[in-house]
Amino acid sequence: MKNELIERFTSYVKVDTQSDESSETCPSTEGQWTLLRMLVEELETIGMEEVTIDENGYVMATLPSNTEKQVPTIGFLAHVDTATDFTGTNVNPQIVENYDGEEIVLNKALKVVMSPKDFPSLPEYKGHTLITTDGTTLLGADNKAGVTEIMTAMAYLIKHPEIKHGKVRVAFTPDEEIGRGPHKFDVAAFNANYAYTVDGGPLGELEYESFNAAGAKITIKGTNIHPGSAKDKMVNSMKIAMELHSKLPAGEAPEHTEGYEGFFHLLSFNGDVEQTKLNYIIRDHDRENFLARKTTIENIVNEIKGKYGSDSILLELNDQYYNMGEKIKPVMEIVDIAHEAMVSLDIKPIIKPIRGGTDGSQLSYMGLPTPNIFTGGENFHGKYEFISVDNMIKATNTVIEIIKLTEQKA
Ligand SMILES: [Zn+2]
Repeated sequence: MKNELIERFTSYVKVDTQSDESSETCPSTEGQWTLLRMLVEELETIGMEEVTIDENGYVMATLPSNTEKQVPTIGFLAHVDTATDFTGTNVNPQIVENYDGEEIVLNKALKVVMSPKDFPSLPEYKGHTLITTDGTTLLGADNKAGVTEIMTAMAYLIKHPEIKHGKVRVAFTPDEEIGRGPHKFDVAAFNANYAYTVDGGPLGELEYESFNAAGAKITIKGTNIHPGSAKDKMVNSMKIAMELHSKLPAGEAPEHTEGYEGFFHLLSFNGDVEQTKLNYIIRDHDRENFLARKTTIENIVNEIKGKYGSDSILLELNDQYYNMGEKIKPVMEIVDIAHEAMVSLDIKPIIKPIRGGTDGSQLSYMGLPTPNIFTGGENFHGKYEFISVDNMIKATNTVIEIIKLTEQKA
């Protein structure tokens, strides 16, 4: 399985699939089409059935049931795009066999070194086969490792018909990194009872709670007058914006919070005397706290209106996604099965709330409860991204084990 994983993974990461927020198409970039079409061909080659690609690039395929038993249909998903934070052009993966736990020189000429001093988890990988970048790009383990592991698990099950399983659906999707992954996902066509994204980080990660998320765009209008004759006439919109921001609890910001603590995050502040725009994101795992945070913003905006006039400020408050935990807890057995699969493979499950969202956050509210499991990658979205092939084997086996347990429990 090791060589198969390396071969697949290195061929996928060489395709530049960086998504692009400014694009209106789906997928947002041509490179994603290239990889998605490659995957269609490969799904057919390994013997998957009902292989489809729709007009938005979503690839789906079926591993048919090989048992008489009534088993729920489960799905596995991974996204093909890579992050917008760092370049994904000309990815040149480096293989480190039998890693010694010391510094890894990613690029001698550019003096890019990955050291356990900066990345304390590195020594845990002593003895593993690692795949790294050459120090000039990201790797794209997020989420091509997930694609690789799902594909390899399917190939394995097709070669091992003695392993009994129900119907399994897989999907490879575009544009997760720009938040659009599930937007055009056809849940009805996928037709699974529940699914897993294979899009987590280090060994053992199992996630079923995410943030509730909203965005608040605030526009403040001022009045610009020549400063020499501005007395009692000038209204400086930047100062109102500062006044507004100062009313928010200072400690409830990303730089001061962790675990289940929510926040208000000021993403951008652009202004002059005449007009200032503030862009916030609001995050909280707890639904009631989330609603209270939105009310806090509304109340502050109303205070500003009371003081400066109702035309002085405009609030656009939009929900972005919700905590998938609310949709997954009623079917907690799907998390339990993933947990049991990991334990039976001697993997210690690490269950923690995501301080963000996944495709699963949206899919769970579209009727497809979708927790997230690990891929084995680390340091996503930058040049220090790497993955352990040993842990990719474990992720692949976790997918296979989840499929086995689902059949056994039916
Ligand atoms: Zn991802």
